[in-house]
Amino acid sequence: MSESALVVLSGGQDSTTCLYWAIDRFGAGNVSCVTFDYGQRHRVELECARAIAELANVPQLELPIDTFAALGGDALTDPGIDVQSDANPENGLPNTFVPGRNLIFLTFAAALAYQRNIENLVTGVAETDYSGYPDCREGALQALQQALRLGMESAIRIHAPLMQMSKQQTVLLARDLGALPAMALTHTCYNGKRPPCGTCPACELRAKGFAAAGIEDPLVDL
Ligand SMILES: [Zn+2]
Repeated sequence: MSESALVVLSGGQDSTTCLYWAIDRFGAGNVSCVTFDYGQRHRVELECARAIAELANVPQLELPIDTFAALGGDALTDPGIDVQSDANPENGLPNTFVPGRNLIFLTFAAALAYQRNIENLVTGVAETDYSGYPDCREGALQALQQALRLGMESAIRIHAPLMQMSKQQTVLLARDLGALPAMALTHTCYNGKRPPCGTCPACELRAKGFAAAGIEDPLVDL
């Protein structure tokens, strides 16, 4: 029997690349995805994720987690906080950091995978060339995988294929996987703009990656 995989799909560039990575590795019929509605200000992300799953012809489940917005304190869920690109000098992190977000996402994804007898989780997190979110680092994922295995008595595997890649490398990977048409549907901008604002940290990072790869970003042409 072939193995199956569940992809955490946010609607962004990296998780979309990972969706195509999973299809390439596990086969289209063995891949499904989950998208979390965590109260993100930019609801367009959810629309993007739906459109991408449809384009990739992969079943998608949307799950609500409304607790992050209730906690407040970050610029991605709190409309009263403007996105700032500079890191907070106290913790070295930008105010787009949602504490525990990836840990919670992967824990719920693992619970869903358990219920569906899915052995593999795929996430688009990376520790290079990014904002320095600590729950996107290799060590955090390894520890979480161990906790999930112990806590669920399962053999779940967490795959983070982009972990050590630069943005340039992820763009080239997306091209090689045939994921560029889906890139036109992805959402990256921290200001929720389509077409993207081009000046927020997320837009700048994305533009840098495409420029370095020598590939035109299909999103810009929309
Ligand atoms: Zn932007």
